[in-house]
Amino acid sequence: MSLIIQKYGGSSVASTDHIRRVAMKVASTKIRGNKIAVVVSAMGGQTDQLLALAAEITNNPPGREQDALVATGEQVCAALMAITLESLGHKAKSLLGLQLPLITDDVHTRARITEMQTGKIAQILDEDIIPVVAGFQGITADGSITTLGRGGSDTTAVALAASLKADCCEIYTDVEGVYTADPNICPKSRHIKKISYQEMLELAGLGANVLHSRAVELAQKYQVPLVVKSSFGGEKETWIVNEEEVMENSIIKGVTLEKNVSKISLIRVPDRPGIAHRILSPLAEAAINVDMIIQNASIDGYTDFTFTIPTTDLSKAKELISEVAREIDAEKMLAANNIVKVSAVGIGIKTNPGVASRMFHSLSAENINIEMISTSEYRISCVIEEKYGELAVRAVHKAFDLDNVKEETEI
Ligand code: ASP
Ligand code: MG
Repeated sequence: MSLIIQKYGGSSVASTDHIRRVAMKVASTKIRGNKIAVVVSAMGGQTDQLLALAAEITNNPPGREQDALVATGEQVCAALMAITLESLGHKAKSLLGLQLPLITDDVHTRARITEMQTGKIAQILDEDIIPVVAGFQGITADGSITTLGRGGSDTTAVALAASLKADCCEIYTDVEGVYTADPNICPKSRHIKKISYQEMLELAGLGANVLHSRAVELAQKYQVPLVVKSSFGGEKETWIVNEEEVMENSIIKGVTLEKNVSKISLIRVPDRPGIAHRILSPLAEAAINVDMIIQNASIDGYTDFTFTIPTTDLSKAKELISEVAREIDAEKMLAANNIVKVSAVGIGIKTNPGVASRMFHSLSAENINIEMISTSEYRISCVIEEKYGELAVRAVHKAFDLDNVKEETEI
């Protein structure tokens, strides 16, 4: 008998009709002789609606209360799913993060799991009852409700699969897994059958909205077999596996466009030891992720310092950095959010020299100027002007021979 964790995202449980359809899928998995635990997101759009309510009151709700608010979305859905399963004649029990309990640190709105207790859920499974876990949420050691960051239900599911040593973690969403590029941007994109944890991690971090990064990280660490499927039918699926299991049939696996990118520049900063630390440490303290960093060569003891951050953190970052700018005597601070990041991802990058120049060439052939570049073993990213974002994705996709020439070929 296999133990399967099935996670259903917001679009799969967007209405009670959707929930009924999912419940039937869950039931049929169980009837086939498996043990099954379900993890649900909030009904599609719910989390945004709850956040909008808070925004009617203030732009800056306390993190603790924001978490208490949005966690209700998953609570509603887990209860409705358990009610539906019961109505279909299956025993089911909803479980909140605090009931499991799933313990996290106290970084509200983006908490990390510190401990997943499985005693209660294991007992429910033993009693042949289907546990329906509210994803995305946890509780701190001192009893405050937390959430794991947007899209965090995936992470709940993988953490549960890891702690219960499940045979498989299935993530159900509204697409049939992962594509070489967003099909809405790049009509010639192809479906990917197998991708390595590492490549998936890069894609997830770059705005490919299919899986939560932390979920992929945990799946790799605990070697959880992970598959992404559509809950709306469709045969295709994407397996996320170890690097050795992926056939290296292309250097680049995917091309992404990340829109949630802004940059801040400090102009004419006195170039002396400790400056980078002075600039970036307030951001680190505020848990703002700095991505690319460029410090120009210094001229006459002055330099320019530019870095990118998520646009969602821009106003907070501007506030922090304008204070630093005064303290360190920078001439001025500039901020821009009309930029995007285009990235090519693939395990082939580290073994194939010339990948970067091929990407740069494809952009220059379209007359697109590259403002910033960063590379890693698995990824090359370029910051460019926002208006060229989609064109750039198509150009890079083509340059790496990813375009689908025959109908429906997968990689
Ligand atoms: N409901 C949360 C969100 O919308 C968590 C999730 O869907 O995974 O981000
Ligand atoms: Mg999601």
